[in-house]
Amino acid sequence: MPRKIVVANWKMHGNLATNQQLLQAYLDRLSALKNVEVVVCVPYPYLAQVQSLLQHTAIAWGAQNLSKDVVGAYTGEVSASMLRDFGATHVIIGHSERATAYCESDENIAAKFMQAKAHGLVPILCVGETLIEREAGVMEMVVAKQIDTIINLYGAAVFANTVVSYEPIWAIGTGLAATPDQAQSMHEFIRHRVASHNQEAAASLKILYGGSVNPQNAVQLFNMQDIDGGLIGRCSLSAQEFEGICQAA
Ligand code: 13P
Repeated sequence: MPRKIVVANWKMHGNLATNQQLLQAYLDRLSALKNVEVVVCVPYPYLAQVQSLLQHTAIAWGAQNLSKDVVGAYTGEVSASMLRDFGATHVIIGHSERATAYCESDENIAAKFMQAKAHGLVPILCVGETLIEREAGVMEMVVAKQIDTIINLYGAAVFANTVVSYEPIWAIGTGLAATPDQAQSMHEFIRHRVASHNQEAAASLKILYGGSVNPQNAVQLFNMQDIDGGLIGRCSLSAQEFEGICQAA
């Protein structure tokens, strides 16, 4: 069985003191777990801190966003090569909290995906539908459009060795996770969508589930065939709960 991936998305939480405690607790609790690849995605200012605390450990780190541009007059932006300077290996792209609040278009998200790849970062591309879209039965159409924007612009081969995270917007931070069957069905859909263009890329693509994952529901979710791990918000802020989720992997 390939190793599952569990990614912590701290969102805009933490400070130097609490991060230090949380990272130390991660190291104490997670270092013995061999079946799971753990990645922590932190706010930009703390990349140096995670680098100094996590280098030479089994836990990798990354950011929650990056610029679609390489370098230049883009006030407030952070480039892929800057993330690499701090040892980041992964970057979350197109999280719905950004896509809505900062008006990120699918084309912008696609450009960020390519920036990450061009600089050797593993993109974690977030896709997912709203509750209204699910209730209207158009969730597959919505997710297909998010995936197809990248395929149409850059080809399906770019999905090789990358990560997609299915995060239904109605499940994020609500305590109401997708059922294992709902998640599996969408994960299978995503894999087929990529496979219909490029089978090899689809086979190496990891598909994570995100949205109210906790130590209890993680066991069943991670047992589903096309669920390769999780992207964890709230429960990643507690080392104990995060450990529980990693143990389920
Ligand atoms: P929660 O785990 O808090 O629902 O957040 C999920 C998420 O948005 C991960 O990116």
